[in-house]
Amino acid sequence: MEYRYLGNSGLMVSALSLGGWVTYGGQVSPEIAQKCMKTAFDLGINFFDTAEVYAGGQCEIDMGVAIRKFGWARSDLVISTKLFWGGKGRNERGLSRKHIIEGTDASLKRLQLDYVDLLYAHRPDPDTPMEEIVRAFNHVINQGKAFYWGTSEWSAQQITEAHAVAGRLNLIAPLMEQPQYNMFHRDRIEKEYLPLFKNYKMGATIWSPLASGLLSGKYNDGIPGDSRLALQDNAVMKRLRDALDTDDGRVKITKVKKLALLAQQLDCSTSQLALAWCLKNPNVSSVITGASKPSQIEENVKALTIVPLLTEEIMTSLEDILANKPAL
Ligand code: NDP
Repeated sequence: MEYRYLGNSGLMVSALSLGGWVTYGGQVSPEIAQKCMKTAFDLGINFFDTAEVYAGGQCEIDMGVAIRKFGWARSDLVISTKLFWGGKGRNERGLSRKHIIEGTDASLKRLQLDYVDLLYAHRPDPDTPMEEIVRAFNHVINQGKAFYWGTSEWSAQQITEAHAVAGRLNLIAPLMEQPQYNMFHRDRIEKEYLPLFKNYKMGATIWSPLASGLLSGKYNDGIPGDSRLALQDNAVMKRLRDALDTDDGRVKITKVKKLALLAQQLDCSTSQLALAWCLKNPNVSSVITGASKPSQIEENVKALTIVPLLTEEIMTSLEDILANKPAL
């Protein structure tokens, strides 16, 4: 495993990490979640990501049980959770001081932990003043309930404002962003955030590196029954499923088929190629993967060995297939 500093901090996170969205607490049993986390840990993954909203809190519960069960040293783990959608109550969502403080406590209880290493604002909250948000995350850090705070899917402008407020008040600014980044979703990391990487040395822990499995090639000839896109009672998966059956979806599948041929040349799987491509970006601190089976983790971790094979020539071939490089 390779470890990278998380942005402008002394904290090291594994270059590949494991998250629980859709899968843990929902799609698979606690036993499978435990097997996946154990496989990940044994392969050197130290960073595990969850959120208060995942499976209505059950993801944190199942991941917390796994952490307890294996008795891993807390110092060997980097655990993150994210706050924004904590429940149906008027004050159980958003980034008010009340929800940040109460939400953190509720997440820690579900995780059976005294602290998380990383605490994210899962989305921006334009209805709460930035000073309240920055002060509340600092309060939680000062209480020892989180070590660093960050953002997820905030615009560069919003992150810049948070830094300005933190600078003015001499408070801790957000350390890392958690944006979507994969071969089909590039603009934020490759364009919008460039000033953040330069000016603040912002860390980036990226999500959906396989575009929910699309970039593994598993959807090239339909939807396998044991895949997340086959989940019938999940609105996000329904949207992704429907999106496959559009012109844009068909173009993406055509590209994935071409990526598979390139992967063959490199003697790797399409998933490994897609993950290696994310890992190659020096602004990416950690690629947060998802897995419903331990075998997927074993396969995905080998993506690290593919990164050195991504020569200039191969990258050019990839750009020719993707044809979506953000114009700077
Ligand atoms: P991916 O795009 O990598 O999708 C993961 C899914 O793809 C797996 O659950 C599995 O689903 C399938 N898969 C993984 N590896 C393989 C393989 N080798 N071969 C075939 N299929 C494979 O990541 P996620 O979308 O899960 O995102 C990763 C993490 O990022 C989440 O768990 C969460 O922690 C975080 N996240 C954060 C968000 C945010 O707003 N901040 C939003 C979304 C995610 P299956 O077996 O069911 O087909």
